[in-house]
Amino acid sequence: MLFESLNIIDPILQALQEEGYTTPTPIQAEAIPIILEGKDLLGCAQTGTGKTAAFAIPILQILSENKVYDKKRKIRSLIVTPTRELAIQIGDSFKAYGRHTGLTNTVIFGGVNQNSQASSLLRGVDIVIATPGRLLDLLNQGHLSLRDVEILVLDEADRMLDMGFIHDVKKILAALPKKKQSLFFSATMPAEIVKLAASILHSPQHVSVTPVSSTVDIIHQYVYFVDKGNKNALLVDVLKDPKIKTALVFTRTKHGADKVVKILAKHRISAEAIHGNKAQNARQRALKNFKAQETRVLVATDIAARGIDVDDLEYVINFEIPNIAETYVHRIGRTGRAGAKGTAFSFCDAEEKEYLRDIEKLISKKIAVVDGHSFPLVDHHPVKVPKQQGRGASGHPAPKSKKVMSTEYWGRKGR
Ligand code: AMP
Repeated sequence: MLFESLNIIDPILQALQEEGYTTPTPIQAEAIPIILEGKDLLGCAQTGTGKTAAFAIPILQILSENKVYDKKRKIRSLIVTPTRELAIQIGDSFKAYGRHTGLTNTVIFGGVNQNSQASSLLRGVDIVIATPGRLLDLLNQGHLSLRDVEILVLDEADRMLDMGFIHDVKKILAALPKKKQSLFFSATMPAEIVKLAASILHSPQHVSVTPVSSTVDIIHQYVYFVDKGNKNALLVDVLKDPKIKTALVFTRTKHGADKVVKILAKHRISAEAIHGNKAQNARQRALKNFKAQETRVLVATDIAARGIDVDDLEYVINFEIPNIAETYVHRIGRTGRAGAKGTAFSFCDAEEKEYLRDIEKLISKKIAVVDGHSFPLVDHHPVKVPKQQGRGASGHPAPKSKKVMSTEYWGRKGR
């Protein structure tokens, strides 16, 4: 299927072509026609599925087909999203897909001075992409009105709940007109989210794409069993592979992220950390350097990394195994975007083995073990298996000069 068959108007088709998009992703193929018909939508989809374009394209089309000729532009679409990084990326997407439509957008998030955001609102804008807290601040100060909003998007609703934004979201909803089209996206659907969705949406169409396990299927996943104290050395060792042009490394804590950056710097590996203690512009700068491949390694905590969208990111390294299995899926979902290839390495120490088990249960597969590396876990004594050099247990090439044990064998041995 091509974008042409979705009845997308020429100015947007042209922009998509310029972006190099030809084929809609499954969520785009399903959601775009529904949204273009003016229906409410409940989308169960996570980042990495192409969901931003799934709502941005039809919103741009609806707004540009029904032009409003007022002296000053009014906010006709509002996108509420949990993090600054996501807001910026969604703003970039609207800019890219809407570049030939004449529509304007502005991005609003906290942690920076509000003046430039307030003045761009004052000038008038068609689409606002915002995090809840700052939007509510500006609303309370009278810097914007949401009375003319025609299309609302609540993005990553479950994360907004996790991050404690639900009250702010409800206050924002109260400032919106009753009659509007609402699009609601969430990767998971816990009871509170279902309730919130039901209170907002009118006879919504449901769209659900790629359950967690199939999203991660295209990513080559390997686990290194390693003593906690050897993780730094292992990371340096793994990064000796020149194939790894850039890597996103996840740590559980901000302090841990800073420590990893220091160790890598000692080994002349360029690295920057991105986490909540850093000023907003330092985080943006780090992300920019990483995207430009000026920094080889970006070290992030989970909150900071939410929504980080780096095209062509091939490697994710879990320096620590997350204690919530879904977090693993979110982390490795930063790679292998829109069908691109991706590899995830996880460093697992003795205490983290139970987290690994939870992850394997969630993704319904065993992760291939890299054996024979330089820093094996002391209590891990693999029995020698016939050499399988060149191919990993998943059928993918094994990391260079590493022996990979078959998952079937490893599965029987148990941990
Ligand atoms: P998202 O799930 O919105 O974060 O999108 C994931 C990534 O896929 C982004 O880097 C998009 O630029 C890219 N993408 C979205 N739709 C398409 C498409 N139809 N073809 C190719 N790449 C796409």
